[in-house]
Amino acid sequence: MGICSHCQEQVKKTHRGKPHQDLIKVDEPRIFTGAPPRGYEEQDFKCLICEAKFTQSSSKNDLAWTLWQG
Ligand SMILES: [Zn+2]
Repeated sequence: MGICSHCQEQVKKTHRGKPHQDLIKVDEPRIFTGAPPRGYEEQDFKCLICEAKFTQSSSKNDLAWTLWQG
């Protein structure tokens, strides 16, 4: 409910989409190499405005930007 307008837009972004200006990285990226031919990465982000948490995934099988409610 309480996510900011930047985060509402972030949900719609594609795999090429960049994090919005108040979305900061949390921890190190998680690298998955076990799925040939290509591995993928996940990176967690947190919004400084509304504290929404996102995970960005480079896997084609996952949503590019997953919002974690609450
Ligand atoms: Zn936000």
